[in-house]
Amino acid sequence: MSTEAQHDLVVIGAGPGGYVAAIRAAQLGLNVGIVEKEPALGGTCLRVGCIPSKALLEASERYEEARKGLKRFGVKVSGVELDLPAMMKHKDRTVKALTSGVAGLMKKNKITRYSGHGKIDGAGTVVVEGDEPARIKTDKILIATGSAVSTLPGIEMDWDRIGGSTEAIAYPEVPEHLVVIGAGVIGLELGSVWARLGSKVTVLEYMDRILPGMDGETAALAQKIFKKQGLDFHLGVKVTGARVEGEQCVVEAEGRDPITCDRVLVAIGRRPYTDNLGLETVGIETSRRGQIPVDGSYKTSVDGIYAIGDVIDGPMLAHKAEEEGMACVEGFATGYGHVNYNAIPGVVYTHPEIASVGKTEEELMEAGVDYKVGKFPFMANGRAKALAQTDGQVKILAHAGTDRVLGAHIIGPRAGDLIAEAAVAIEYGASSEDIARASHAHPTLAEVIKEAALGVEGRSLNI
Ligand code: FAD
Ligand code: NAD
Repeated sequence: MSTEAQHDLVVIGAGPGGYVAAIRAAQLGLNVGIVEKEPALGGTCLRVGCIPSKALLEASERYEEARKGLKRFGVKVSGVELDLPAMMKHKDRTVKALTSGVAGLMKKNKITRYSGHGKIDGAGTVVVEGDEPARIKTDKILIATGSAVSTLPGIEMDWDRIGGSTEAIAYPEVPEHLVVIGAGVIGLELGSVWARLGSKVTVLEYMDRILPGMDGETAALAQKIFKKQGLDFHLGVKVTGARVEGEQCVVEAEGRDPITCDRVLVAIGRRPYTDNLGLETVGIETSRRGQIPVDGSYKTSVDGIYAIGDVIDGPMLAHKAEEEGMACVEGFATGYGHVNYNAIPGVVYTHPEIASVGKTEEELMEAGVDYKVGKFPFMANGRAKALAQTDGQVKILAHAGTDRVLGAHIIGPRAGDLIAEAAVAIEYGASSEDIARASHAHPTLAEVIKEAALGVEGRSLNI
């Protein structure tokens, strides 16, 4: 081993969970090391997840707008052409800027970066395998190793024509026919990208609805809108196999004719990633679903070893991983760190966007909570009309007795930005009346939130 070092904290994995935890720990005065196996920092999110997918969603939306959406504004455009390599360059530039930004943040915060595969070698020791091997002694270890794509038996992944999201953010040409397995977040976001760029997109989903887990009414509205955009949904479909045959792929599902297509995107979820992490050297056992069990302060079954982010239970979201990273290391320094899981928003960056926070109606019904509903459509909002983006609505759920906001579900323009207001309301224990009485600038999309809050007591004004 060429390096022998000592730290207060070693973080394994430099995704949004790990790198944010490292920065916060350094701010709190700890001597921190971070181990990352990929050359670029930032994890799934920055390298192959949130950021590149959003760069492509934005770019493909501009393309579609230029082709179809500007005439109504009195803007005539002709000769619109797709330059896919240039679009991919935009994505790559965006990723590069952000991943090198994280490297800069590590330097600024005097966090020691180790390049290579990190492996626990008994409590208090991490070894780094690769071109720059190291053996590190540390008081605490934070596992932030994230997740990897889930696959299905029978699906013969060649990680090219039949691949996951990493392949689907980098197809070298627009597939004529793309089959997406799974109508979850990745299936809808990346399915939308390729549909906008010209692919025929067939979505095969096991459940009888899209976006399982999201508010049912909102998901049903979304399905109608995406159908109009050309996504071809087949629900209640059990895929049994997929394989490459020559230049084509064949997808098989129970009780259906095989589908021939150019590419297959497998988007049926992700699994916690703990491969070759050395958990057995300390006796940490993963759950049936592969997650590392932790207590309320993110401690594993072993003293001094903690875990956060996609590798533990909960929604696989970048901001959830970040919050856990901060709460975990603040716990080291102050004895207290907390994440309010009820106030973590989820956003699907389709067009229109879908965003939610807090409880769904289904969850409230199941828990027997008495609740009131306020809804308001974007159709009746001046700004949405000016934008010519009137599909969708805001729905606010409030406790029938206390009026406390319990959930908010938005489908509509910039829903992902609008949901922040509802998340803050839930975090502060606000009532629907608190939102309704707050002044919202006119004309903004945010007025739809105010109107939906007014609607909880049947007092919406502009409808
Ligand atoms: P990760 O980001 O997965 O980071 C883990 C890091 O650990 C990786 O860099 C990995 O290389 C490294 N690592 C693993 N094992 C080792 C080891 N033994 N040694 C050294 N390094 C190791 N979430 C959102 O909130 N918004 C979005 O818009 C969004 N879009 C997404 C789009 C796609 C296509 C995908 C796939 C995911 C998306 N997500 C999104 C989910 C988000 O990327 C994850 O929830 C988030 O990255 C989890 O952060 P993390 O720090 O737990 O793990
Ligand atoms: P997901 O859990 O969102 O959706 C998977 C879908 O596949 C579900 O609808 C599920 O019912 C379906 N499915 C499962 N097995 C199937 C089968 N055998 N045949 C057909 N359908 C099947 O998972 P994902 O879309 O792969 O995304 C993975 C994770 O990444 C998610 O947890 C998500 O939180 C995260 N992510 C977040 C964002 C975002 O926040 N905007 C974007 C992309 C990914």
